[in-house]
Order: sequence, then C-alpha cells, then structure tokens
Amino acid sequence: MEPIIRLSGITRDYPSGDGVLHVLRGVDLTIAQGEFVAIIGASGSGKSTLMNILGCLDTPSGGSYRLDGKEVAKMEAASRAALRREFLGFIFQHYHLLPEMTALGNVEVPAIYRGMSPHARHEKAAALLGRLGMGDRLNHRPGQLSGGQQQRVSIARALVNDARIILADEPTGALDSRSGDEVLAILEELHRRDGRTVIIVTHDAKVAARANRIIEIAEGQVIADSGLVQGRAALVAQPPAASPGIGQLAEAARMAVLAMCAHKLRSFLTMLGIIIGIASVVSVVALGEGSRQQVLQNISGLGTNTLQIFPGENFGDMRSGRVTTLVSEDGVQLARQPFVASVSPTVSTSPTLRYGATEASAQISGVSEQYFDVAGITLTAGRAFDANAVQQMSQDVVIDENTRAALFADEDPLGKTFMAGQVPLRVIGIAKARQNGPGGSTSLTIYAPYTTVQARYLGTTIVSGLTLRVSDDTDMALAQQSVTSFLTQRHGGKDFFIVNNDEIRQTITSTTQTMTLLIAAIAVISLLVGGIGVMNIMLVSVTERITEIGVRMAVGARRSDIRAQFLIEAVLVCIIGGIAGVLFALGSGQVFERFGGDFTLVYSPLSIVAAMASSCGIGLAFGYLPAASASRLDPVAALARG
Ligand code: ADP
Ligand code: MG
Repeated sequence: MEPIIRLSGITRDYPSGDGVLHVLRGVDLTIAQGEFVAIIGASGSGKSTLMNILGCLDTPSGGSYRLDGKEVAKMEAASRAALRREFLGFIFQHYHLLPEMTALGNVEVPAIYRGMSPHARHEKAAALLGRLGMGDRLNHRPGQLSGGQQQRVSIARALVNDARIILADEPTGALDSRSGDEVLAILEELHRRDGRTVIIVTHDAKVAARANRIIEIAEGQVIADSGLVQGRAALVAQPPAASPGIGQLAEAARMAVLAMCAHKLRSFLTMLGIIIGIASVVSVVALGEGSRQQVLQNISGLGTNTLQIFPGENFGDMRSGRVTTLVSEDGVQLARQPFVASVSPTVSTSPTLRYGATEASAQISGVSEQYFDVAGITLTAGRAFDANAVQQMSQDVVIDENTRAALFADEDPLGKTFMAGQVPLRVIGIAKARQNGPGGSTSLTIYAPYTTVQARYLGTTIVSGLTLRVSDDTDMALAQQSVTSFLTQRHGGKDFFIVNNDEIRQTITSTTQTMTLLIAAIAVISLLVGGIGVMNIMLVSVTERITEIGVRMAVGARRSDIRAQFLIEAVLVCIIGGIAGVLFALGSGQVFERFGGDFTLVYSPLSIVAAMASSCGIGLAFGYLPAASASRLDPVAALARG
C-alpha cells in the first residue's frame, strides 16, 4: 500500500545573517495511513519546522514530499490551502482559537472555508464538541474555557472537515498532566476508532510512549525510528467536497461585523472621517441646489422671456440720472415691433401715504396695464387698470398686501381713496406682495398708471426703465440685438443697457454649479483623507490580527478568503460611515431649516446615491492594500509572530 506520507531528502534552509541556516538536512520518512506517530527531539532540533512542512503550511527548500501519492513540495499556495482544508487538521500548543468567537464558531471556521452549508456545519461542530465532552460549552468563548477545554475545541476544529491526517505540535505542552492525558486519550481514539493518521510532536518521553511509533530528530535529521507499523485503511468517510459560494461572502461579512464590534471605539473613530466627508458632500450639494432654486424662484417672477432696459451703461452708473433719452415713447414704439409681445415703462416715486390718521411711506411704481402680465404679478382681489386708464392718467391704483395691511388694517380697501403725497388715489385691486429675496419683501408698493406718475409727480416723460416681453417664438439673443439697434438709432447712441432674464438665470445656474463643484471638491478631499484613515487603521488591524490570519490560513483559508474578509471589513466601515453621514446631513438640514430660517436645503437623491457609491468605492480602494498585505502573509511566519 502506498504510504500516505513519503518524505525523501527534505531540506529547509533559512537565511541567517550572511550565511544560511540548515534546519532540516535531508529528512527521509514514510508514514502509513492510520499510524499514530510521535516525533521527539531536543528543542531547536527542527520538529516544528518538519511539522509545518508535513502540514503544507511551509514549503521545503529541497527534496520531495508525496502526500497521498501527490507531489506537494512545489505546490502553489492555493493548492496547499486546499490540502490543509480537506486533508489535514492542525492542533497547536497554544490552541490558537479566535477569541471573538464561541467554541462552536471556532470549530465551524474550517467548514466555512470548505463551503459547508450553515446548517450542516452547525450540526457537525456541535456533534464533535459533544463527542469531546464539550456539549455544555458550545457558546463559551475561549477566554471562558480552561486550557484543556480550549485544546478540545481546537481538536474538534481539526476534525470538522474530516481530516485524514491530524498534526499536533506539542498539544499537551501548555496543559497540566491530567488535561494532557485527556487530550492524548482523544488523539489515541481518533487513531484507533476512526483510523486517522495522527502525528504528534513532543519533547516529553512519557507522551511519546503513548504512540505506536517514535521518530527522533536531532539537528535536522532522523536519528532513530522505531519502525513503520503496518497501517490500516482509512475508516474516515470523506464528505463530498462542497464548493465555495455566496455563503462565504456572507460569512466574511459576519466576521467583519464581529471584528468591528470587538473594537467599537476604534471602528467609530475610523468611520468618523467618512461620516464627516459624506455629510459635507451631501450638505454642500443640497445647499448649492437650494440656493440655486431660490434664486431662480426669485427671478422667475419676471418670466425668462423678458428684457429690461435701463438708462446708463450698467447698474450703478453715476451718470444714468442725467440720461434723459429713455422715455415712454420708446416703449410705445417698441410695442409696435413684431417680436415684442408687450412693453411696460416703469417710473417710480416715494410719497407719504395718508389714510385717515394712518401714515406710511411707500413706493409707487408707475407701470402700464401690461406690466402685471409681463412681471407675473397676481391680484388677490379687485382688478388691474386697463389701457384706457393709462391713457387717461387715471388715479385708480393697485396696492399690494403690505400696503393694505399698513393703511387699512381690517377694513376692505376696495373703492377707498387715500392720499399719496398731494394726489388722491383710489384702490381698485390688491396684488400679492413681491417676493424679493429670502423672507419676502416688507416694503409697501403701489402700482399706478405710469402716465399718472409722470404727470402728477415727476412732470417728465423720462422713465426709469422699460420692461419688455418678447413674443414666444422669438430668440432672446436676437430680440436683444434688435432692441439695441432700434433704441441706439432712436437715441443717436447707446445710452442704455439691457438686462436679459434668461442670461441672468443661466449665469446664476452656472455660478452656483461652479461653486458647488468647488466646495464638493473640498468635501471629496476630506473623503479621501477619511479613506486614508480607513487604510491606516486597517493596516494596524492586519498587524494586530496576524495570528488570526495565520490560524485561518492553517485551517484552510485561501488567500482570496483573507483578502475578502479584510476588504469587506473596510467596505463595511465605509458603508456604515456613509449611511451615518447621510443621516447626519439630513438631520442637521432639518435642524437648520427649523431654527436657521433663511436658507433652503434641497437634497437630491442622486447626490445621496453618489455619496453611498463613493464611500463603497473608498472602502474598496483604501481597503485593498491592507487586505492584499494580509492575504500575502506566510502562515508559518504569521503564527510565529503571534
Ligand atoms: P523545535 O524542534 O524546537 O520545534 P524549530 O523547528 O522550531 O525547533 O526550529 C529549528 C531551528 O530553526 C531553530 O534553531 C530555529 O531558530 C530555526 N528557525 C525556525 N524558524 C525559523 C525562521 N523563520 N527563520 C530562521 N530560523 C528559524
Ligand atoms: Mg517546536
């Protein structure tokens, strides 16, 4: 019968200083299926080194290792992980259980990597622990178990995938003699009843005496061997190999949550960078969108197809007061142009109003009958004046809500006459107060025919501006050009300027977009900083959990499993941070809206989705390096460093 283990000429060298340390110097050894072998030797003789090679945790520097007929000495990492998972069970001197998990959870770990279904591995782990006398300790954590109990958990872990070979490196080294005896009895039974191959390393002759065969090692060579005992055919039933699937991802996520819960404060601090980054991105975008919508709402009172014409070169031109060429006749002439839908001149004056004993100061806007349409002013009561009234300089006016409140209190103002300066005016309509800027305007406004204002107050036909609505099918830029050349011709020069509402809207939109982009860029930088924080902590966490990584690899985790676990942890931290950030942004928005008053936040679902996606991306990007470095660890080195 082909022996299950055949080593020939196995060497293992370590670089040491400027030379090489030959730890194993040509080990030849055959072990048959079902043997119970003890390897003894002085400390430093190379027992553990040999054991790690037997357990496919380490690769020999030279020689051949045939395991169950397959050459494994030069196998790559993934195939060796598969052998560890399905063929070999490791028991360590210091148990190496994962401290955050229960006994049951620890036993299940190799089965997870094998892809066993949760139910099956639960049952199996519980049965194994029961068989080893741990049935009433399933949900204890390693810290709550004695050394002997922990070692039994670790034996159960070695058995959960039905390993045919059990490798135990000083399994009783840390135990008192009674617990040690119990552990040895279990190992003996595994050999006798199950027909498993059991190989233990010990420096204790009494322990070695329990085995069927003793191999002694000194200075990296076999110096004595009590001889091959005829092996037996395996009695162990091999379960069908399950394939890894989506369940493993869920397991990795569960472990990531466990790891996060074990370091709550640290996880929170790591998240904080992401929380702040995401919250600021979402808030800034909401603020930008809010102010954009508010500004647009303010100017949309004047439709986007209106042009406003003012004297002078621009707003704030000191000489505009001396320009006398912009008169109401310009408006009348412009109204005849085919592309003009309506025109209203605007003039204004600010007399004191008097009604009974009440006085108030107000602004009278002298406008044409078309102004209400052009400027989008809605009446809440009564009616506006018509073209006839404008022609006849009628003293019928429309007052706004502010004026009504200031002058008439609870009285119905329609039909009432009040004094504005020296001129009596009669109320025929009430208009909504103009929303000028946030909070609305509190100034009093009265709309009167411009002819009345010119004749009764100003004594001139000069206007302070013309508001013009372009007919629907005309291009705004073209209309602006035509108006410019028309008026330039009439005035004999360009002494006016035109404000194009559409242009203003576009400018505002693009300015707020630029601002939003700029601030968002700063927020993204803070997200990057948060991401670097995540990477930093993950690197620390990898270093800190190096033993855990070693243990997981020893029980058969693939490199990809380790990488997935750390990557998922990083992504999870970022996603939870992202959700918290979004909630924080929404919450603080609520608070601001309730108490801050003057600005609006408009949260776009797109920005929230983008924020979540980017936090996910940050987790992947910044978690990759730590995860990759964890997955590249050498299992032997990782276990030794722990
Ligand atoms: P033991 O028989 O006590 O288990 P080991 O196999 O652990 O002995 O170690 C055998 C020798 O190999 C020791 O001298 C040890 O210092 C050396 N050795 C083990 N691992 C390494 C390593 N990773 N790098 C360098 N030397 C090592
Ligand atoms: Mg050792």
